[in-house]
Amino acid sequence: MTVAPLTLEALLARGDVGMHVGGRTVEAASGEWIEVFSPSRTGTTLGRVPRGGAVDVDAAVTSARAALPSWRALPAAARQQALLAISASISAHAEELALLTAADTGNALRTQARPESQTLANLFRYFAGVATEVKGVVLPAGDGQLQYSIRQPLGVVGAILPWNSPLMIAGMKIPAAIAAGNTIVVKAAEDAPLTVLRLAELCAEHLPPGVVNVLTGYGTECGAALVAHPGVDKVSFTGSTAVGRTVGETAGGRLAPVSLELGGKSPSIVWPDAAGPDTVEGIVTAMRFTRQGQSCTAGSRLFLHEDIYDEVLDGVVGRLRQLVVGDPLAEATDMGALINRKQFDRVCDYVAEGRARSDITVALDGQEQVPGDLEGLYLGPTVFSRADNTWRLAREEIFGPVMVVIPWREEAEVLAMANDSHYGLAAYLWCHDLDRALGAAAKVDSGWVQVNQGGGQLVGQSYGGMKGSGIGREFSLEGMLESFTQIKQVNVKIGVPA
Ligand code: NAD
Repeated sequence: MTVAPLTLEALLARGDVGMHVGGRTVEAASGEWIEVFSPSRTGTTLGRVPRGGAVDVDAAVTSARAALPSWRALPAAARQQALLAISASISAHAEELALLTAADTGNALRTQARPESQTLANLFRYFAGVATEVKGVVLPAGDGQLQYSIRQPLGVVGAILPWNSPLMIAGMKIPAAIAAGNTIVVKAAEDAPLTVLRLAELCAEHLPPGVVNVLTGYGTECGAALVAHPGVDKVSFTGSTAVGRTVGETAGGRLAPVSLELGGKSPSIVWPDAAGPDTVEGIVTAMRFTRQGQSCTAGSRLFLHEDIYDEVLDGVVGRLRQLVVGDPLAEATDMGALINRKQFDRVCDYVAEGRARSDITVALDGQEQVPGDLEGLYLGPTVFSRADNTWRLAREEIFGPVMVVIPWREEAEVLAMANDSHYGLAAYLWCHDLDRALGAAAKVDSGWVQVNQGGGQLVGQSYGGMKGSGIGREFSLEGMLESFTQIKQVNVKIGVPA
């Protein structure tokens, strides 16, 4: 390993951080830069990244295309070795990546950033492990026939990342794409680009130039140009449903395959038999409060059965009051800052709407939990009780630490409410009667259902959404095969006389 780990101070002292194209660190062709602001210290800049545009996209796609023939021609075991070396390098730089991503995203170091950098190393190791599983099948076509299929890479992948957990989402796309023999051009989110650029530096040490290229820039300039570029054979997008729709239309217009990992408004349903401390803890975890609720899989609609409504709500509020809101880099902090002023104001508008309703109870006011001397985009856990599933607060993805609690009595009624959503990403079912829980799991319209637990995705599970939450699956062997390879069938007559 020649890329030495750096301290956070040293990383931030770099000021301007370039993009990675064709094994080189480059500025934008326009010479323009984007300032990266710290979410946790209002007004402080962490550095600048290039404002990439169509010219830069073209250069990156050209590099990725040039690298493709020799990369895809390698034995899978050789790509596996490269991914294992990158995984080891990420592990060696894990604390540095965690510190940088905490500064970049505002996510707390202990509860979010450290586990995320570890997941990134795990994802590279996982996809190294399955790199040799890109196999075809042989048909039993009889004597004189060899009929087989092979899975081939799609070519150049264009990948677009959001800001909320940039390392984990980079880890869903980069190792899966390159393990299968593709090359990739990644567009980092403009709000949290620094760790993804650092990841590119670590990757570069173990890969031929052009296999992984990382661009920075605005979505409507750099992102849109990447999706539209005719040299991009596959688009893998993670972000909001609104932008995902546009991405899908553009990619679809030129018949490029597309995977979309989009937003959510996931139900968390509690049956009376599951009231208890484990469920309370799980509800808090599932809502991703320690990521300020900025998670696509947040269980943001909590459905409590009337018989245990007050008991569970009291437990949840009591547990949330213990969360420490503060500087993401401080060890004591459970919840850090929201990503940017626009998002902060948007979340505060939803909170104001909830407060203004006379038919809702504020069970927990997030502003009370923010220490008075804290400067930055902070909001503590906010809980609105006795909400209705038809309200805007219960229908729209707030993407902040705001949970609505809705009472229910009949199982059919709660499942209908859970499914009455444009989204279908995750669902959390809290029920100790497993017959009942598994019956509900079959009926809920979500790509991912958890029963009596609320943690994050397991590396290797099929992950993706139904309905407005997306198209396609990633994170797994099946996801790699489905999203980053295509099938070719070869039919051969054998035993042909010479
Ligand atoms: P966003 O859609 O605003 O931006 C995502 C990315 O798309 C950014 O890199 C942005 O620059 C780019 N972009 C914006 N406009 C574009 C365009 N016209 N063409 C191409 N690219 C464009 O989302 P965000 O605010 O960064 O992230 C939050 C959203 O992401 C939430 O809705 C969240 O639920 C979703 N998300 C989903 C998952 C998942 O796995 N399903 C994971 C994380 C986040």
